Amino acid sequence: MSFETLGLDAAILKAVADQGYTIPTPIQLATIPTILEGTDVIGIAQTGTGKTAAFTLPLITKLTRSKTHEHKGRVRCLVLAPTRELVVQIAENISAYSRYAKLSVATCYGGVSERPQIAALRAGCDVLVATPGRLLDLGRQGHGDFGSLEYLVMDEADRMLDMGFLPAINTIVRALPKERQTLLFSATISREIEALTSQFQRSPKMITVGRRSNPAETVTQLLYECPGALKQVMLNHLLQDTSLSTVLVFARTKHGADRVCRKLDGAGIRCAAIHANRSQSQRQRALQAFKNGEVRVLVATDIASRGIDVDGITHVINFDFPDQLEDYIHRIGRTGRALSTGIAITFITREDFGELRRLEKIVGKHLHCGKLTGFDYTQQAPPRTPEDFVRDIDPRAAQRGGRPQRSQEGHQHPQGGRHGGQRASQGNYRPFGRPGTRRTGGPK
Ligand code: AMP
Repeated sequence: MSFETLGLDAAILKAVADQGYTIPTPIQLATIPTILEGTDVIGIAQTGTGKTAAFTLPLITKLTRSKTHEHKGRVRCLVLAPTRELVVQIAENISAYSRYAKLSVATCYGGVSERPQIAALRAGCDVLVATPGRLLDLGRQGHGDFGSLEYLVMDEADRMLDMGFLPAINTIVRALPKERQTLLFSATISREIEALTSQFQRSPKMITVGRRSNPAETVTQLLYECPGALKQVMLNHLLQDTSLSTVLVFARTKHGADRVCRKLDGAGIRCAAIHANRSQSQRQRALQAFKNGEVRVLVATDIASRGIDVDGITHVINFDFPDQLEDYIHRIGRTGRALSTGIAITFITREDFGELRRLEKIVGKHLHCGKLTGFDYTQQAPPRTPEDFVRDIDPRAAQRGGRPQRSQEGHQHPQGGRHGGQRASQGNYRPFGRPGTRRTGGPK
């Protein structure tokens, strides 16, 4: 089966060929004709299956076919996604796929200035990719004309609900025209997701790729016993193997991620960290350096990792076992994307063993955990320096005279920083109603 048989426009096929895609992935084969037909779709697919192209390619085709001058100043297609990284990623994909079709794409997400986003909304665009929190903020200030919206996509819907975006989604979607095509993508299906689809979709067709909640079949999963104190040593040991060329390491906390990065740096391994304490531009820079191959290892926390779409990640290493077991699926899905293969390595401490059985239930198969061959389990853990202790509590404590201040990943608005909250309304038109007193959206 080739892309040519799916009903996409020639301009889109040319852009797809530029990307080097030759065979459509299973989700693309199933969804592209269905979306072109105008049917609402529930796509149950993990990340790495090619789902972004599965919804963007047919939508771009439809938007190109029906483009007129009347759309000036309006948004024709809205894509909601949980994180800024994913928003940027989706927008980049859309721009690449529509380069010969000349569609306009804009983004809205928190942690950066609102001004260019407001200007883009004022100008209107064919596709707006947004996080629900920032879009709601801007809508409540009167920005964005969604009166002739034709298409709505909710990507990674399960994650948006996990992050507490349900009230924001409800407010936004209720304000959109009822006559529209609505697509929802989720790695897992739950009662909450079913409620969303029955509320906002019309006779949707469910398309499931792979078993639900199952990691991409292409990823080889290796689990190694590892005493907590030897994790860093084991990581450095693994990285002596140069076949681990593009490695994404997951740490549980922001400070943990920084610590791992510091130690790798000390060992001469080029690395960068990405987490909620980093500014948007720092996160983009780190991601870009990883994509370019300037850094070999990217250390991430779960929240920051959403939307990391880097081709050719050879290995994912779970330095820390995930707090939310479902995150395991998302983590390992960062490698083995689309049609390539990958390896996911997980360090298992004594405390993690109990969770391993529950993880097997989620993954749906037995996971063997053994010793890492060639690793000296009898070695002494390197002593931690007093500086490590201080920095682990608060990296800025030293500058404040040693006073620690605890902060946890997830306590921040996912849109980042001070721009995430409600703002006073300006003007009379508010696409998403009046601002309330409670913040909608944000991690629980
Ligand atoms: P996604 O599941 O949308 O996050 O996509 C995962 C990766 O697969 C992205 O890096 C895409 O560029 C790539 N991809 C999407 N479709 C194809 C295809 N048909 N052939 C090869 N790679 C693809």
